[in-house]
Amino acid sequence: MNNPAEAEPRPLDIYDTTNDGFAPAPLREAAEALQAAVDALGKAQDALIGCATPLNLTKIVDDIKAFTPMLDTHQEHMSKAVEYIERDFPLPRNFEDGEMPWFERHQSPVLTPKQVVFLAETAHEVMPSELVTYRAVINAADEVPVPTVIARAQRKRRNDEARENEAQLVDKILQDIESRPCPYCRVEAGEYCRTGTGRIGGPHAGRRDLSPYATEYPREAKQAKREDDSWKTQQAPSQEASQRAQEDKEILADVITELAEGFRPKYD
Ligand SMILES: [Zn+2]
Repeated sequence: MNNPAEAEPRPLDIYDTTNDGFAPAPLREAAEALQAAVDALGKAQDALIGCATPLNLTKIVDDIKAFTPMLDTHQEHMSKAVEYIERDFPLPRNFEDGEMPWFERHQSPVLTPKQVVFLAETAHEVMPSELVTYRAVINAADEVPVPTVIARAQRKRRNDEARENEAQLVDKILQDIESRPCPYCRVEAGEYCRTGTGRIGGPHAGRRDLSPYATEYPREAKQAKREDDSWKTQQAPSQEASQRAQEDKEILADVITELAEGFRPKYD
């Protein structure tokens, strides 16, 4: 009963409530989903090759053929890694070059399935005192390690939020600057600065300096600019041009209708 060789494989599934909106999937389930994807690609390839309707599907088939071996290799590593992890297979604590794969380079005990397989397959080359299990390392980590895909999603969300906050701050600064009269072009509070030729622009530096907001956030204040977008309406196609385009479209539609009406199926 206490013999580890006879013990049932135990999953190493950690359900963190901060899973960032992803439905938690056990390791084995994730591996099976990848296997299902490989199988589905094989079926798709068969169906496309056997497609009896004359369509040019070569590019699609070629892309599937190119992609499948890569996914196949990932799947193989994944399913082997599941076995090694669940069976608490001993893994060398160092790579051959002496580097600890768990922490030194990556600052995280999270390995790729390929790394787990590589370590497991070289385990017989090292002294027993050099061996650890994946479970032991994960359990010994100071904090529960975040799976890297989720960590990436969290990082992206934080970046997006930071960018959104910055855009909002820039907008607020611009509004604050323009809520004061401009000492340079003399526009009233609430109006946009004007260039010498009367175009919307600015805000002028002197007006910016009046805003405590802008002084507090000089970097964002530099981005606070009022663009004159009147040129966009000038660039818009003239009424005459769009009328000509409409006429061209109608002529083409007539030609297609005529072609269609004159069409007789060969084997009717
Ligand atoms: Zn101004």
